[in-house]
Amino acid sequence: MTAKTAALVTGAASGIGECVARRFAADDRHEVVACLDLDPAVHDLRDDIGPSVHPYECDVADHDAVGDVVQQVEADADILSVVNNAGTSRYFWIGDLEPDEWDRILDVNLTGQYNVARHATPPMFEREAGSVVNVSSGAGQRGSASGGVHYSAAKAGVFGLTKGLAKQLGPHVTVNCVVPGLIDTPLMSESGLWDAAGIAEFEETLPLERVGDPDEVARVIEFCCGPGASYMTGSVVNVDGGGSLS
Ligand code: NAD
Repeated sequence: MTAKTAALVTGAASGIGECVARRFAADDRHEVVACLDLDPAVHDLRDDIGPSVHPYECDVADHDAVGDVVQQVEADADILSVVNNAGTSRYFWIGDLEPDEWDRILDVNLTGQYNVARHATPPMFEREAGSVVNVSSGAGQRGSASGGVHYSAAKAGVFGLTKGLAKQLGPHVTVNCVVPGLIDTPLMSESGLWDAAGIAEFEETLPLERVGDPDEVARVIEFCCGPGASYMTGSVVNVDGGGSLS
């Protein structure tokens, strides 16, 4: 009997990750959509999206817990796509940025992606199939005053992780990085990082003159995991309304 195919999406309970989970659940490439999130709301996704969703409440920063989730998914299905999307930030001026806060943001945004890759990608490498997408941020390319230097540093690390993994996991497994600009998700609207005036001012600097919708990023992530991106690895793809031009 051929094993089922699975996608593993982190940070799937909200925003960009939730849109990716919805897209994967609607396609026929992934029979299982493993949704991992720290937020217990991840359990609601199965009722909301459908039975192919398998929710896992888990902190990506917890290396062993991530390993347990990957083991449970792999017991049922072969992981074909990995979307390392979970992320968070809280603003601190550098003078107020305590070591615990620095560590936590690095642990979630960067080490979390290593944790998932460490457990999920060796079986993909052995099976000679699969795609990984790591989600970074424009903050990792240009710095971000509002996100904090810890967030910028973690997101910059995602580029190195992506490129190193792309070299290790070839020739059959692709690894790419998607870089959202400012996207209308709870991270933008509820985290206190942005206020309405700041968003409006930022929109004026963008060639496309608006913030993005989370599904506009999810579409690109889905493409990077699909057959259309078969000759793409180690690439950094900005989905930012042209924000990287300024
Ligand atoms: P969001 O807050 O809507 O979703 C993030 C999800 O990650 C949430 O469901 C949250 O519970 C989960 N999460 C946070 N910490 C976790 C942890 N330790 N373990 C497991 N899950 C955890 O935000 P979003 O905008 O959809 O963010 C998705 C990704 O896009 C993040 O990596 C973020 O840094 C990146 N990003 C977002 C923007 C933006 O403007 N929204 C811009 C650039 C990059």
